[in-house]
Amino acid sequence: MTFYTADSIYTSGQGVLTGYSFEVLDGVIARLIPIAELTPEEKKTLISFKDSLIIPGLVNTHNHSFQSLLKGFCDDKGFFDWRDNALYKYANTLTEEDIYNGALFAFGEMLLQGITTVCDFFYINDQDNRNAQAVIRAARDLGMRITLARTMYDWDGAPRRFQETVDQAVSNTRELFQAFESDPMVFVLPAPHSLHAASPVMIKAGRDLAKELGTKFHMHVAEGEYERQMIQEKHGHPPVKYLAETGILNEDLVMVHCVWLDDEEIQLMADCQSGLSYNPSSNMFLGDGITRIREMEEAGVVISLGTDGGCSNNRASIIEEMRMTSLLQKVKWCDSTVTMAESMFTMGTLNGGLNLNQSIGQIQSGFAADFVVVDLNDLSMQPRQNMTKNLVYSLQPSAFQSVYIAGAPVVEKGHILTIAEEKIVEKVQKTTQGWR
Ligand SMILES: [Zn+2]
Repeated sequence: MTFYTADSIYTSGQGVLTGYSFEVLDGVIARLIPIAELTPEEKKTLISFKDSLIIPGLVNTHNHSFQSLLKGFCDDKGFFDWRDNALYKYANTLTEEDIYNGALFAFGEMLLQGITTVCDFFYINDQDNRNAQAVIRAARDLGMRITLARTMYDWDGAPRRFQETVDQAVSNTRELFQAFESDPMVFVLPAPHSLHAASPVMIKAGRDLAKELGTKFHMHVAEGEYERQMIQEKHGHPPVKYLAETGILNEDLVMVHCVWLDDEEIQLMADCQSGLSYNPSSNMFLGDGITRIREMEEAGVVISLGTDGGCSNNRASIIEEMRMTSLLQKVKWCDSTVTMAESMFTMGTLNGGLNLNQSIGQIQSGFAADFVVVDLNDLSMQPRQNMTKNLVYSLQPSAFQSVYIAGAPVVEKGHILTIAEEKIVEKVQKTTQGWR
């Protein structure tokens, strides 16, 4: 047992607590307790961070780790140019080792930004699980918690390596899930790619597999306006309405993006209790549009945040996504009161846990001991009067002091402890040398 404390502890439910500590047992938060109530024995184990605030580890619910290697090669292009002439082109050349290197790179950057769990939506499967295992290995080597959203993909317009038959996708995803079933650091869930890259049969197979395994399933929905028009023409309904009509929209589904939704679709999402994994920076980077976050919040949709892939952002920060979510709504509505820092922070922490179906993103008994120590003496955290507003709107990465995952330190004094950052740089250079 070990107890941790700081000047303040941030909890989503109870606000900012002072004079409190929490006990970590086997990687899990056992209880929150006032320091004054600790026994002398317990006090001996107390680790106290001075001039600091402890916050829950940040949760990134959408990423494609290999895309970090493509940073700079895809920028300022239209969506189809970005996809066909950059994304597909380089994705076709990556070896298993390159995929591992890309994941180390993406996850390493995230750790330094206080992200303790990532959901990697992975689709270079080569009809088996070796590449997905390489992504999981990278997270494990860094000490990071990962959800592998194993993609189910059968559109033949994409590189062959993405494609599988429905039977292959189902049995490979089930096998990967079973391989990590008892591992508290690795989760696997089915992820039919999208309405344009997975057939209706594939999407239904993903839904059924999620039910069988007791997981969520993730899918890109209505990212670009073209997809809305395409589904409308093909099926006579816009995307979310179509998903509702075909029995796919349910409480297990977490939809990524949802930029192009009408009022009825937002209500359907809320009624069916489907979640949203929202990626504001990526949507801006690709010129997709602005998701209707205000209306979705009012309807009661669980909204979590993602960075999306490294070549459509190109940063890897959930704090940044909180800030972008808020600012985009304020500018869309020409009203600075439509979003609150407190709910942005919940999106980047607790709601991430809900959309991944894990007890993460909160400093509370029973939750994973994933937490971040923020330096309150950092200039970006001054003045100290309103910590939530500072966290969401003014914090700079220099304020991240230490990161703990399952009770183990993985970042200290702003550097990764588990793998030297120079090693990651070397690997990125090795993989990308010769790319033009
Ligand atoms: Zn994506």
